[in-house]
Amino acid sequence: MIPISSVQFGSEEEELVIEVLRSGSIAQGPMVQRFEREFAALCGVKHAIAVNNGTTALVAALDILDLRPGDEVITTPFTFVATVNAILEAGATATFADINEDDFNIDPSSVADRVTERTRVIMPVHLYGQMADMDPLVALAKAHELSILEDSAQSHGATYRGKSAGSFGLGSFSFYATKNLTTGEGGMITTDDDDVADRLRVLRNQGMRERYVYEIAGHNYRLTDLQAALAIPQLARYDMTVDKRRSNADALSAGLASIVGIEVPRQYPDRRHVWHQFTIRVTDECALSRDEMVASLHRSGVGAGVYYPRLLFDYDAYRDHPAVLKSDVPIARRVASQVISLPVHPLLSADDIATITEVVATAAST
Ligand SMILES: *Cc1c(COP(=O)(O)O)cnc(C)c1O
Repeated sequence: MIPISSVQFGSEEEELVIEVLRSGSIAQGPMVQRFEREFAALCGVKHAIAVNNGTTALVAALDILDLRPGDEVITTPFTFVATVNAILEAGATATFADINEDDFNIDPSSVADRVTERTRVIMPVHLYGQMADMDPLVALAKAHELSILEDSAQSHGATYRGKSAGSFGLGSFSFYATKNLTTGEGGMITTDDDDVADRLRVLRNQGMRERYVYEIAGHNYRLTDLQAALAIPQLARYDMTVDKRRSNADALSAGLASIVGIEVPRQYPDRRHVWHQFTIRVTDECALSRDEMVASLHRSGVGAGVYYPRLLFDYDAYRDHPAVLKSDVPIARRVASQVISLPVHPLLSADDIATITEVVATAAST
């Protein structure tokens, strides 16, 4: 089976982890600080605040905005469940804009339609490694005095017109095991605002600035030095990782572009795609349905994934939730029934890529 994601650590990670073990300081310490500094540099922001996972990062970022019950956060229904869970945990209401089928991200004109007097935050999710169309979202946020929180869990180092994911307002990242950069579990919040960064650091550490001096009711959201030690070497070679992901994506696109019923992902010249996922669409012209195609790929040893098979508000847990406001999103609904993500990770060989394209081509013509 060619897996949909794969992690491999090298001697650099081993050495740094051993350094932490021998230091005797394994909780949050100097390694976390170094990771924060280097991650802030990747994003071109002043501050990066490490936390224990990507969902926590979203919750902490929303907490800092002091949302009140009834305050609305506009996001996409075509995302991982954490996006919505974080909004609910922060005590706000989730509302949903439709997406653009070319980049799979929130459509700014649909966001504009969803703005009400209760809207406080626009929360784009940069899905699959490619950023949303930020300029119109920033303009909307300015016009209505809204905050921007970018769910960049899948888009470390992605850019839009030269500006990095996580640098348009508050940014949130995940280092879960399958993400482009990983610490097993881990997260990061990015900001250029000194005061926000300071408040986030206090919030993540039980509300303490100094030991046993509590400024606010906080949490334990800390990352550990052991985890940071895993991330630092990955960060150092991240440009190479993205280059490999991109060349894999280019090879897959070239191999699949002419297959009837398959749409390959669109690349934008003014956006750096970091290819967390390579996601094709199976259209009505294809001989197989999406689900038949996935089953066929699995039978042939290709670890295809469906991210995401249903819109979040279609699940029982959210369907009648009072803080989850359903809306009409025809494009997201159609796309959710069409997508398949194919392996694009840096450990793929040229043979793997040839196998993947052949298997898709054969399946599509049966
Ligand atoms: C992975 C992910 C998260 C949550 O990150 P965790 O580290 O798993 O908590 C949030 N949003 C999106 C879009 C993700 O893909």
